[in-house]
Amino acid sequence: MIFHVLTIFPEFFEGPFAHGVVKRGKDAGLLDIRIHNLRDWTHDRHRTVDDRPFGGEEGMVLKCEPIFSAVESIWPERHAGQKVALLSAQGRLFDQSIANRLASSAELLLICGRYEGVDERVAEHLADEEISIGNYVLSGGELAAAVVVDTVARLLPGVLGNEASSAFESFQETGHGEGLLDCPHWTRPAEFRGWKAPEVLLGGNHEEIRKFRKKIAREKTERLRPDLLR
Ligand code: SAM
Repeated sequence: MIFHVLTIFPEFFEGPFAHGVVKRGKDAGLLDIRIHNLRDWTHDRHRTVDDRPFGGEEGMVLKCEPIFSAVESIWPERHAGQKVALLSAQGRLFDQSIANRLASSAELLLICGRYEGVDERVAEHLADEEISIGNYVLSGGELAAAVVVDTVARLLPGVLGNEASSAFESFQETGHGEGLLDCPHWTRPAEFRGWKAPEVLLGGNHEEIRKFRKKIAREKTERLRPDLLR
């Protein structure tokens, strides 16, 4: 899968994709992340990407022309597998089901807003959807784009190394099942300051372990995220 990120701060992404699962996926050729500088699609001396909002509000808004030009030059002929998402506090709340759906795209282009936001014509006529990562306002879409890329990348076949592992994570309908939280985990030492790892996990009875994991995943969901059980 190819991810494109359109931003006025390309250097922001030097960090987030240079580690762990995403980096390994890139190095193995399972995904590609292309960072595009929005200013490359401006035509004036100052490489202007923003302007004052109509109606006399405060602040600045990202202009639509460079954004449309960027997407149309990245994909001169756009096809159905190429999706555009605008990161926006006003978007649909990002969750595992949206991540699963996006992971089936061939390419995903993420537009990072800044300032007061992005000219509404981008949401209306260019983006397939608007995505929010939570009910709070960030300074820019870059952190949100990094969250979306990381979440989707780990769902791509082969990226986690073990095909089954993302199925057993929190919120997935597969694995422990029903979109609940993942089960808690323990590792060595088996006893630390008098707190013991559950005995059943130390034995080799796979059926008992499977049942125990399902039970404690449900218990933890009831305790921390009862909303997921409804
Ligand atoms: N005026 C906008 C509002 O109140 O909805 C907020 C603009 S925000 C300061 C600038 C940019 O940050 C947005 O265009 C968007 O790209 C990004 N952003 C802010 N909060 C976000 C969130 N919760 N999820 C995704 N992107 C967000």
